[in-house]
Amino acid sequence: MLNRLSIRSIFLPTLVGVALLASVGCQEVPVTGRNAINLVDDQDISKKAAEEFASIKKMQRASRNPAQIRIVEQIGRRLSKTVFWDVPHADWEFAVFHAPGVMNAFAMPGGKVGVFSGLIDFCENEDQLASVIAHEIAHVAARHTHEKYSQGWMLKPLGAATSIGIGTTIGGTGIYVPSVGSTAGGGVTAITQSAFDRGKELEADHIGLIYMAKAGYDPRQSLRLLQRMEEDIASKGGPTANGWLANHPSFPQRQIRINELMDEAMSHYEKGEVSRTHTVIE
Ligand SMILES: [Zn+2]
Repeated sequence: MLNRLSIRSIFLPTLVGVALLASVGCQEVPVTGRNAINLVDDQDISKKAAEEFASIKKMQRASRNPAQIRIVEQIGRRLSKTVFWDVPHADWEFAVFHAPGVMNAFAMPGGKVGVFSGLIDFCENEDQLASVIAHEIAHVAARHTHEKYSQGWMLKPLGAATSIGIGTTIGGTGIYVPSVGSTAGGGVTAITQSAFDRGKELEADHIGLIYMAKAGYDPRQSLRLLQRMEEDIASKGGPTANGWLANHPSFPQRQIRINELMDEAMSHYEKGEVSRTHTVIE
């Protein structure tokens, strides 16, 4: 049974949250137009993310593969130009980490992006790699980390809000981490624990698909990559091995949604307003 104190401890933070919401407000998510709460100062979270990114770069081994660095820079240039008006204050930086077998990438508020070499090795072409990076950038543009913090704050007493560290949810979504045993893999797992719920993952798929198409990448390659990943996971004994699917929508769910959005994405792609590259990854 709830006594008066516990009722207060449940409702007071919510009331504080609602009051904050009214004063700080909502934001509209790019592409989907969804209204999301945002009680987080953009500069503040970007600064923390930049610090976190700097320490990740110290922990991870930087790639020395010029072809991999070039392809990620190329994708980064095209996507960051595409998303400019959705994330105008971002200071984009794209790091490539030498981590064979680690099929992962992440993006942080403020525009810090990390790509692991195992993902580049797995992709057949630039378009597939762009689909993953576009998905990660979509989380940033949609301010999913801001929203997650904002929701957390609404459920906590105000005093506790200041103690939420960015390190616990940074990065984000981790596409797929197959080699948890290695040094690189171990580090990566900590960084890329999925921070978002399935709804946000599907939203990032949607936004990312439109972004990649606008940047001149073939959106059909995103389906091809998902299919290949699904086959790869199945060949390695199923999705539960790494546990990452727990916070991600299933492959069929993602594929169905992406298929539904394909006409819209193709119409952006076929406009062909940008210079294109479709490097094949050997
Ligand atoms: Zn994601």
